[in-house]
Amino acid sequence: MNMRDIIIAKRDKQSLTDEQIKFFVQGVTDGSIPDYQTSALLMAIVLNGMDEHEMTTLTLEMAASGKQLTLPYIEGVSVDKHSTGGVGDKITPILLPLIASFGVEVVKLSGRGLGFTGGTVDKFESIEGFNVEVDTKDFHMYVIKTGMVISGQTPDLAPADKILYALRDVTGTVDSIPLIASSIMSKKIAAGAQGIVLDVTCGSGAFMKDLDMARELADAMIKIGKLAGRQVVAVITNMDEPLGRFCGNVLEMQEVFNTVTGKGEPDVIEVVTELAYHLIKIAQKDAGMSEEVLKNEIRARLSDGTCYEKYKQLIESQGGKLNAAGSPVYVSKPFDCMHVNSPDAGYVQSIRTDLIGQASVLLGAGRLAKTDKIDYGAGIGFFVKVGDRVERGDSLCALYTGEDSQLPEEKLFDAMDLILDAYEIGPNPPEKKPAILGVIT
Ligand code: URA
Repeated sequence: MNMRDIIIAKRDKQSLTDEQIKFFVQGVTDGSIPDYQTSALLMAIVLNGMDEHEMTTLTLEMAASGKQLTLPYIEGVSVDKHSTGGVGDKITPILLPLIASFGVEVVKLSGRGLGFTGGTVDKFESIEGFNVEVDTKDFHMYVIKTGMVISGQTPDLAPADKILYALRDVTGTVDSIPLIASSIMSKKIAAGAQGIVLDVTCGSGAFMKDLDMARELADAMIKIGKLAGRQVVAVITNMDEPLGRFCGNVLEMQEVFNTVTGKGEPDVIEVVTELAYHLIKIAQKDAGMSEEVLKNEIRARLSDGTCYEKYKQLIESQGGKLNAAGSPVYVSKPFDCMHVNSPDAGYVQSIRTDLIGQASVLLGAGRLAKTDKIDYGAGIGFFVKVGDRVERGDSLCALYTGEDSQLPEEKLFDAMDLILDAYEIGPNPPEKKPAILGVIT
């Protein structure tokens, strides 16, 4: 077997055999296939696709390219959650304590942010002392103590995906349903959970720009999961505007605190409730409650202190500092340094969420390169969202930097320009999209 024949087969629209895919993934992992041949095959996959069987084989081989976790200390069906990324996506820090309050134990491995979507690990690191580098051999201690643990991705989990993703990033081969689906599912399968709930974001701030594409990706991941013996549910969520009222690390964690203490934004509550519902059901911790009763109970726990108590446990167990009032202590203080005012009167028709994400990165809230340093206090607060009425001169957004930031003024103005481009204001109220666009089981 050789790589040239495999590239030619995919170029000529043939299905790759299990042996060819295995040869490819092993060669990528051990470094014996040069980047130019890997890149050529990736491009052939982007152009000619893969069938379900190929996608599943690719996923399983990538999952097997490194360490695979088993979670024997998790009581009952182990579950995991994954979001395909968005702006203002602060769901995981709310979801973990919420489902833990129902007895659902979770080991959550999360990534750092790169580009305009934020990373959950960065968000937790905005709490003073919070340790996200938990050794896999210690996971069980945290799960026994609080029912949950959050950690950065370990380098030995699905290493083939890390190599492939880095190449895809620089060869224009990220946007491919088989490649995205196998990349996500390989990490989830290697992380060991039997049930997986996927938050497939859809809209201008997501990989999948429209509902058909989001459904196609969700279907692909569900099929891979099924063939790999995992139960998968996909919830398609709206990313045609930022989720909640803030993006940026400390700002989002402050919003998390508001949500777990009963003052959450409606869209955040809706998404978190839907995801929690499916995770609790799959983990069989629903105690026979109907969908309506269980969802009411989930919402109640966000405001009656139950979720907040578990949230405090999560923060404290991983070394995070709480002040005397029980609120996390953050590593930076957001400083409200500029407001962007509406140039027109009317209704907010849409918000280009990708541009909002880019503005947030310019302010310092995200990274363009892996080595970039984050300003944890930076970000954006949204006074108005899609459907809201504004008058000329009203504030659309507040721009924040950390209070010690040395951000050059030009960057602040560039961020402002991006925000003005992002907000479309029109004369009539638009049709407002729901936060949940669909659920595929
Ligand atoms: N997230 C991943 O983990 N992989 C992709 O290919 C895209 C999004």
